[in-house]
Amino acid sequence: MNTVEKSPVTELVETTGHAGSEWLSRYSSSLMGVFGTPQRVLVRGSGCLVWDADGKEYLDLLGGIAVNALGHAHPFVTSVIASQLSTLGHVSNFFTSPTQIALAEKLLALADAPAGSKVFFTNSGTEANEAAFKLARRNTGGSNTKRTKIIALEGAFHGRTMGALALTSKEAYRTPFEPLPGGVEHIPFGDIEALKDAVDETVAAVFLEPIQGEAGVRPLSPEYLRAARELTARVGALLILDEVQTGIGRTGKWFASEEAGIVPDAITLAKGLGGGFPIGALVTMGEQTSSLLSAGQHGTTFGGNPVATAAALATLHAIESQNVLANATAVGEHLRSALAALPGVTEVRGAGLLIGFDLDADVAPAVVQAALDAGFIINSPGPRTIRLAPPLVLTTAQADSFLAAFPAILQTAKDAQ
Ligand SMILES: *Cc1c(COP(=O)(O)O)cnc(C)c1O
Repeated sequence: MNTVEKSPVTELVETTGHAGSEWLSRYSSSLMGVFGTPQRVLVRGSGCLVWDADGKEYLDLLGGIAVNALGHAHPFVTSVIASQLSTLGHVSNFFTSPTQIALAEKLLALADAPAGSKVFFTNSGTEANEAAFKLARRNTGGSNTKRTKIIALEGAFHGRTMGALALTSKEAYRTPFEPLPGGVEHIPFGDIEALKDAVDETVAAVFLEPIQGEAGVRPLSPEYLRAARELTARVGALLILDEVQTGIGRTGKWFASEEAGIVPDAITLAKGLGGGFPIGALVTMGEQTSSLLSAGQHGTTFGGNPVATAAALATLHAIESQNVLANATAVGEHLRSALAALPGVTEVRGAGLLIGFDLDADVAPAVVQAALDAGFIINSPGPRTIRLAPPLVLTTAQADSFLAAFPAILQTAKDAQ
C-alpha cells in the first residue's frame, strides 16, 4: 500500500517511485547535517500508521515526538485547516481573527485560568519559552529592583534558541554557543532542599518541566511541584511550567501539572497543540503576570495565524469529543504495567502516553533500529532509555502488537551489539 492519491503536491514532488535511499542521498546533499541521517523517508500517514518511500508500514509510537496527538491525517483537523486556509490564511498582528480569539479563550478555560489571564501565540516550543524568558526579565516581584536570576533544573530541555538554550542544561547543546543570556542557574533535579536554597528575593522565575521529556521521561513529584509553588509565591518569583511536551492531553490530563493541584504563573505549550500543525503558546495566569509584557515589548509575524489557531481549535475539539484523554490514560496504564513485566525492562516511568523505560543494557539506539525493522517507530533519549509518545488515539490492540514484538526486538538489538 504505497499508493498516494493524486494531489497537487504529487504534481510538484513525485512522492512515489523513488527509493528511500535515493531520497536520502538527495537529503544529504541539500539539507544541513544538524539532524544526522534521517532514519526513514516517510510519505504518508493515517491514524497511528505511517508508510515510508519503500512502501513499508510502521506503527508510530513516537507521534512526531509528542506532536501528532490525534495521529496522522485526522479527517476533522484536516478539513478545518483546509477550510480556514481557503477562507483566510494569514493576517498580520495589526489585525486579529475569530479563530485566534476563540483559541485563546479555550486555552484559558482548559487551564482553569483566573480572571485577567492571557495568551501569547508562537510557532514553536522554543519561541513560547523565549516569550516566557522575557516575561521573567520583566518580573520584579512587585518591587522596583530588577531581578535577573532564573532557576532551571539539571536535565532540563527548553529549546534551541539562545534564551531557551540558556534554560537548557545539556553542555553539548550549550557550550558551542556561549555566551548565552546570563543569570540562569541549574540546580539538581527533584531536590526540594536545593530549591529552598536557590529561591530567594533575587529570583525572577523558576522554570520546570512537570516531566522532563528529553532527559528520559523523568517526572517531578507532586510534592516538588507544590513546594516550588509555595517557595516562588513567597518571594515573588514566577513559577513557569514548560508543558510543551506534557501538555494538551499527553499525560491523560490537559496539563500534567493538574496532578499536583497547583496554579503556576505561566505555562508554555506547543508540540501537541496543533495536532501536527506548528503552533505554540505562552499562557500567563492572572492580571499582574499577564501585564508584565506591555505593548511593543514582544511580537511575532506568524504567531497566532488563523490557520494555526484553527488547527489547534480543531485538535482541542476532537480531543474533547472523542474521549481522547480517557483513552490516553487507559492505554498508557496498560502499556506501562505490561512493559514493567517484560524481561530486560528495569524501570518504567511517565503518565498517560508519555512513557520512558530503562533497559538492562546500553542498547537503546540498537533497539530503535531493530524496532524500525520490525515496523515500530520509537525513540531513545538515552543509551539505555526508550521513549514512547504515540498519538493519544493509540488503541490497546496497537499497544499489544508492540508489547508482543518487543522481546524479539530487544534480543535482536543485543545480538547486534
Ligand atoms: C520540544 C520541547 C521544546 C522545544 O520545542 P520546539 O518546538 O522544538 O522549539 C521545549 N520544551 C520542551 C519540554 C520540549 O519537549
